[in-house]
Amino acid sequence: METKELEKSFQALNIPKTHATVGISNLIASNKQFRSLFVNRRLPNAGFSDVQIQNLLFLFSILDTNNKTMATGGDGDGEESRWCGVGEREGRVYSSLVAQRHFGLSHGMGRSGDITEPQPKAAGSSALVKLTLLLALDAIRRGSGLNAKGPAASGILLPLCTGMSMSLLLSSLKSSEGSDSNKTIVLWSRIDQKSCFKAISSAGLECVVVPTTIQGDEVVTDVQAMEQALAQYGDKVLAVITTTSCFAPRVPDSVDEIAKLCAKTNVHHVINNAYGLQCPKTCKLINRACVVGRVDAIVCSTDKNFLVPVGGAIILSPHKKVTALVGKVYAGRASSSPIVDLFITLLSMGLNGYTRLLKERQTMLETFPNRLQAVADKHGERILSCPANTISFGMTLDGLARSKRDDESEADYLASVAKEISSFGAMLFSRCVSGTRVVPRGEVKIMGGHDFVGFGSSTANFGHAYMTAACAIGVSTQELDEFFVRLDKTLTEFHTKKNKASAK
Ligand SMILES: *Cc1c(COP(=O)(O)O)cnc(C)c1O
Repeated sequence: METKELEKSFQALNIPKTHATVGISNLIASNKQFRSLFVNRRLPNAGFSDVQIQNLLFLFSILDTNNKTMATGGDGDGEESRWCGVGEREGRVYSSLVAQRHFGLSHGMGRSGDITEPQPKAAGSSALVKLTLLLALDAIRRGSGLNAKGPAASGILLPLCTGMSMSLLLSSLKSSEGSDSNKTIVLWSRIDQKSCFKAISSAGLECVVVPTTIQGDEVVTDVQAMEQALAQYGDKVLAVITTTSCFAPRVPDSVDEIAKLCAKTNVHHVINNAYGLQCPKTCKLINRACVVGRVDAIVCSTDKNFLVPVGGAIILSPHKKVTALVGKVYAGRASSSPIVDLFITLLSMGLNGYTRLLKERQTMLETFPNRLQAVADKHGERILSCPANTISFGMTLDGLARSKRDDESEADYLASVAKEISSFGAMLFSRCVSGTRVVPRGEVKIMGGHDFVGFGSSTANFGHAYMTAACAIGVSTQELDEFFVRLDKTLTEFHTKKNKASAK
C-alpha cells in the first residue's frame, strides 16, 4: 500500500494522526531495508528482526504458485488458490504444520536439468535461493575473508552435507573430462574423517590414500609423497583432495604447495574446508593457494560455519564453470529447506552479527590453549603443540594407560590399554561433555578395503594417546568454563579409579 493510502485508511479508522505517523514511519524504514536488500543484494550490516524476516519469507511464498491458504492445509476443503494444478508435483502439502515449517514454500529449488535454474512455478523460491547465495558469498568475502577474485569468485548452495557435496563435485569433474576419460583416481591427503573418503567411492572413483608426515607434534602434508603419487598414477589422476579443517594433531594441508603441484601436472584440486570459514589463517592460506597454483573448488559445510541445522553445503570456486557444472550434474529438483535456514540466519545475523561471532571465537582462542595446558599440567599431561591448527586442540592422555609389562609385546600392550583410554571419552560424554575425541595409540580401522593404522590421528605412528576439543564458532564462554572444570574432575576421577584398581 502507498503511504498516502495508508494514512487515509488510518484516518477513516479514527486513529490519531500522530499515532499513524509513528507506525507508518516504521513501515517505511522496514521497506527501505527490504529495498536495499533487493537492490544491493548484499548482507545488511545490521541484522533484520524475526518479524521482518518472516515478512520477507511470506512475500516470497506469495510469489510462488499453488499456495493455498495455510490455515486449511492442502485438503481442498478450505479456500483454494487461484491456480488449479493438474501435474503430479504441484506444491501440495497436506499438513498445515509442515506448510508452516516451510513458510508456505513447497516447490524446493531448481529444475530437473539444473539445480540453479529458476523454477517457473516458483518465482519467489527461485529469487530466495539466488539471493541466499549472494548473501552467503558476501558473508564469506567480507566476513571470513576469502577473495572475491579468488576462491570466493563463484559459489553454489546445495541441500547436501559436505560429503555428498564433495561426491557431486567429483562426479562433475569426472564428467567434464568426457565419457571416454580414464581418469578414475583421486589422491587424498590422509585425514581420518569418513565422509570425504566415502564421497570418493560414491562418485565411482578410486581413492589412493597419500600418507601424511609428522613434524614435532603436528601431522602435516607429505608434499613429496603427493608429488610421487602424481608421478606414479600420471594420466589416471582426476583430482587431488586436500583438507583445511581438521582435528589436531593434524593441521591444515599445505594447500598452496599442492596447488602448485596440481597446476604443474594439470590435475583438479579440491579443498575440503568443512569448517574453515571461521578461521582467518585458513582463509588466507586458501587465498594464497588460488594465487600461486591451481584450486578448482572449495567445499564448506553450512552448519559448521553458519550455525544452521545439518544438511547444507556451499561449494566455492575461482571459476564459474566449475560451480555451474555441479548444478547441472545434480539429479533432480532439490529441497530448499537448508537454503531457507541459511537465508534466515544470515539476515538475522547481518554482517555485524557474523563478524561478532568470528571475533568472539578469536577472543576465546587467546586463552583456550593455556586453559587446556593448565588442566594438563595438573594431571601430568601436556597439550600437543600444533600452532597451525587454530580450531582443534589436543592434549596427551598417556598417563591414563598402565605401564607396559616386560613380558608383553608393544602391539599387545597398545591393544590392551586402548580400551581403558577410550573409556575416558565415554566418561566425559556421560558427564555431558560432547564433541571431544579420545584417540588411543595404534588403532586400526578398515574402510573401503584400506587399512588405516593409527586411525583418528591421520597418521600411522603418532606417539601419544590424546584427546581433542574444538574452539569453534558459536561456543559460549560458559560452555568452555564448564568444560575445563569437568575435564579436570573427570581426569581426577579416572586416576583415582585407576590407582584403586592397581592397589588391589
Ligand atoms: C564435518 C566434516 C566433513 C563432512 O561432514 P558432513 O557430515 O558430510 O557434512 C568432512 N570432512 C571434515 C574434515 C569434516 O570436519
